Amino acid sequence: MRYVSTRGDAPILDFEDVLLSGLARDGGLYVPETWPALSSADFADMAGRPYTEVATRIVTPFAPSISQADVASMVDAAYSTFSHPAVAPLAQLDANEFLLELFHGPTLAFKDLAMQLLGQLFSHVLTKRGEKVTIVAATSGDTGGAAIEAFAGLEAVNIVVLHPKGRVSDVQRRQMTTVQASNVHNVALDGNFDDCQAIVKAMFNDLDFRDRVKLAAVNSINWSRILAQVVYYVTAATTLGAPHRKVSFSVPTGNFGDIFAGYVAKRMGLPIDKLIVATNINDILDRTLKMGSYTVEGVTPTDAPSMDIQVSSNFERLLFEAYGRDASKVRAAMGALTQSGSFTIDDPAISAIRSDFGSARVSNDAMHATMQQVFKSLGMQIDPHTAVGLAAARDTLDPTGAPMVTLATAHPAKFPAAVEKATGQHPSLPPHLTDLFDREEHMTAMPNDLREMQRFVEEKIAAS
Ligand SMILES: *Cc1c(COP(=O)(O)O)cnc(C)c1O
Repeated sequence: MRYVSTRGDAPILDFEDVLLSGLARDGGLYVPETWPALSSADFADMAGRPYTEVATRIVTPFAPSISQADVASMVDAAYSTFSHPAVAPLAQLDANEFLLELFHGPTLAFKDLAMQLLGQLFSHVLTKRGEKVTIVAATSGDTGGAAIEAFAGLEAVNIVVLHPKGRVSDVQRRQMTTVQASNVHNVALDGNFDDCQAIVKAMFNDLDFRDRVKLAAVNSINWSRILAQVVYYVTAATTLGAPHRKVSFSVPTGNFGDIFAGYVAKRMGLPIDKLIVATNINDILDRTLKMGSYTVEGVTPTDAPSMDIQVSSNFERLLFEAYGRDASKVRAAMGALTQSGSFTIDDPAISAIRSDFGSARVSNDAMHATMQQVFKSLGMQIDPHTAVGLAAARDTLDPTGAPMVTLATAHPAKFPAAVEKATGQHPSLPPHLTDLFDREEHMTAMPNDLREMQRFVEEKIAAS
């Protein structure tokens, strides 16, 4: 299995090089050269198996240089940090309505499912090669904590995490800034998430700098993040009757990584009916699906900050597929985006996208009303991101159709203010985090400036 760039102008790499490099050198994203196909019998055989076993079966074909036994032991180590034995259990809300709970990992968001495995994979490959890397990550709140939790203390890695100052929740910030490890460096950037992401991308596009500090990416532009997320679509769908019946998913979406993993599962043969792109009022993807043009507007902060995004990096991977893997079309679209903040998707491509994806934009009121309604009817607290997903699911639900699974992407205690406002009850943190507000914070405030950030990274590496 080899990997190609969506822009067609970067070296073709194997799994391990893609793992360590993140963004392709032509600015594109890596995708597998082909999608490995699984049969109905393969999926039927995965139904009811432990999460780790399914994960091993899904990951192995994508990483041919790593033995199945090594994959299995990394998967076991990655998911041993989860507090629920099923790792990603399903909860039933109504006859045909389910939540897939992806928040039982160490930092209470779905990012842990990919990041814990990524930590294992980095450690394995860097040890084998005797190399060191510098991870630089932008976070809208949840990626940073998950990455720090996965990479803190690893000998072969320095990790620098940029979060938008004042725009992440106190719990999210403290999960990043209270980790005591000399290889962890937190930056509070004066800007929004898109500014953080733009600086990280610019560092990758400065090839001298990139080579000098051996930059690696763990944002969802890293293919292995997507790969790890394919697994829970498979466990959920097979639990609900796949391959014998179709299942739909509603996915609270920001950078399009999580939902793209659902698309990959479908391309591998999992019978997914619709993938619903759930957005909050930062609705670029809903507008794109409805109107066929991707047009960047301003970001408005909401109570679901991990979705307060306008530039949705992983959408490029879908565009590459929708254009029949014609990299010149992707290059043209991304060029137009840089020049004018917008690109149009031609007809066969947008029709292809619409055959796999639906979408809905959920207002702040609907998000709060959904948290309230679920609490009133079931006594269950859900977080604002999950509420956006559930509201979108309900908007688009076909009552006679496939079971609809909403991805519950964060634990309610991660967003206590919004949850308390909607339900009147303060959600409590799980036991391993009850002293979070007593721990000491470490971070550096920085301006939105590429050169200063590059100096900061080089200083930290020199000191390590
Ligand atoms: C990151 C995140 C999202 C968005 O996921 P993408 O893969 O960026 O689309 C949604 N909800 C929560 C809680 C998140 O942390």
